[in-house]
Amino acid sequence: RPLNRNKIVQHEFSIQVSPKTAADTTLLKQKIAKLNALQVNEITHVQVLKRSIDARQIAIKINLKVRVYINETFIDDPIQLPQYPEVSRANEVVIIGAGPAGLFAALRAIELGCKPIVLERGKDVRARRRDLKAITRDHLVNEDSNYCFGEGGAGTYSDGKLYTRSKKRGDVNRILKLLVGFGATGQIMVEAHPHIGTNKLPDIIAAMRNKIIAQGGKILFETRVTDIQIKDDAIVGVVTKSGDVIETNAVVLATGHSARDIYELLHRKQIHIEAKPFALGVRVEHSQELIDQIQYKCATRGPYLPPSPYSIVKQVKGRGMYSFCMCPGGVIAPCATSPGEVVTNGWSPSKRDQPTSNSGIVIELRPEDFKNFQQHGPLAGMYFQKSIEQKAWQLAGETQRVPAQRLIDMVGGKVSQDLPETSYKPGLTSIDMGTVFPSFLHQILQEGFKAFDQSMKGYLTNEAVVHAPESRTSSPVRIPRDRKTYEHVQIKGLYPSGEGAGYAGGIISAAIDGEKCVEACIRNIKLI
Ligand code: FAD
Repeated sequence: RPLNRNKIVQHEFSIQVSPKTAADTTLLKQKIAKLNALQVNEITHVQVLKRSIDARQIAIKINLKVRVYINETFIDDPIQLPQYPEVSRANEVVIIGAGPAGLFAALRAIELGCKPIVLERGKDVRARRRDLKAITRDHLVNEDSNYCFGEGGAGTYSDGKLYTRSKKRGDVNRILKLLVGFGATGQIMVEAHPHIGTNKLPDIIAAMRNKIIAQGGKILFETRVTDIQIKDDAIVGVVTKSGDVIETNAVVLATGHSARDIYELLHRKQIHIEAKPFALGVRVEHSQELIDQIQYKCATRGPYLPPSPYSIVKQVKGRGMYSFCMCPGGVIAPCATSPGEVVTNGWSPSKRDQPTSNSGIVIELRPEDFKNFQQHGPLAGMYFQKSIEQKAWQLAGETQRVPAQRLIDMVGGKVSQDLPETSYKPGLTSIDMGTVFPSFLHQILQEGFKAFDQSMKGYLTNEAVVHAPESRTSSPVRIPRDRKTYEHVQIKGLYPSGEGAGYAGGIISAAIDGEKCVEACIRNIKLI
């Protein structure tokens, strides 16, 4: 429909354009002017509200939702942070863990007028970097400071993908706006698949920390919680590694899915926890160029398209096998949280400009898969997960090197004679994946990769390298809570939150869950 230049000065509509037009404001204005019988100089501004790529056709298109300003000055209205009150003398809520769930819970507590005391086993983002280097260079894993533990949690040194399956757009936008308020690019509000990048995340997290402290909240680093005190089925305190006791009746437990000692603690204290389905598999690396060629169906992606991601799901032998946490232009990272194990995951810088791409390729697991670990009750899945990580460590030489195999060799069931260098810096050991995984998992992976190649022609290539294991996809344990009050089903004052509680998966959903839990905690305990 033609735009009415006399009646309204702002128009919102969707438009499909070439990647080049989408990247060039002048071309975009010309296109909009032509489509709407306007003069180009009548268009004072084109604001892109949403952007996604449609790569289904040979000629790739960019879908834009735009707001067009006609003969009207565009006034940029930057996103503002909420007015956070001073809370140093307010009622306290203890938050265990400074991952996305814990940090967003702390900020929400302040917004509502409570003082958060955040207890974090790891170090601040800057000090944490040294420990990450030590994993890669010296093969030393610090149990409190690694890719999963430390300020910002597992999300800090990640790709910073910010998409989620949450249907509640309002909640998602709220978190995205807060991230922009703390320094993320406004583009995350526009892109259909936004991401931040490892190089940008630490500053954003440090800004959140500074705000929490400036408003009177507390963050205690290198403060691992080792016990919780309970009286008459209600929480009365938490104990730290150094023996300090913090008395409290309000605890948000946001320790993430790698805090095995917390699951052990709850189980030992007979606090109800449950086994939860999760997924496990390998991390595959391809060249980004190949993924671009497959996804964009062209020889090179050119200057206007971003490094392509992919997302793939197949049913193999009755199980779901799917890509997980795909990192275009990214690197595979050593993500173990204890000595004696290896774990892979991936990250990318904001430009996603590394020559390699990687993705977790995982298989959904079922309770019967853990039957050899039944003696561990609700922790059976966790022990299964741990056993694979420890076996991989042993097989690859008892360092942070990981078992690796060329993808073609893995599918063909033969040990790779040689391995190309990959982005996984601690190094690779050529191992048959059949010795790392139970045979049912290995067979599903072999079949599944053939099926992947049918959907993404060229995926199954001699250049691609499989790294093992990708094992920390989601929590193997749930810490159950009441659906309405968010309080633990048995222990009053305990609010299990985020990925470790089994109620979130990813940065955004963990952040949303952290906010919801602290709101519920403050409301139920009448802290304000
Ligand atoms: P966590 O982030 O795990 O935080 C838990 C915190 O609790 C940690 O800081 C830990 O040190 C602390 N803690 C644990 N035990 C104790 C204790 N006993 N006492 C005190 N503190 C404790 N998700 C995405 O959405 N997009 C991505 O691109 C993405 N990429 C990833 C890349 C990597 C390398 C990794 C490891 C993860 C990635 N994830 C990604 C997953 C994402 O980081 C998590 O889903 C998210 O961080 C979960 O948030 P959380 O707050 O629930 O837990």
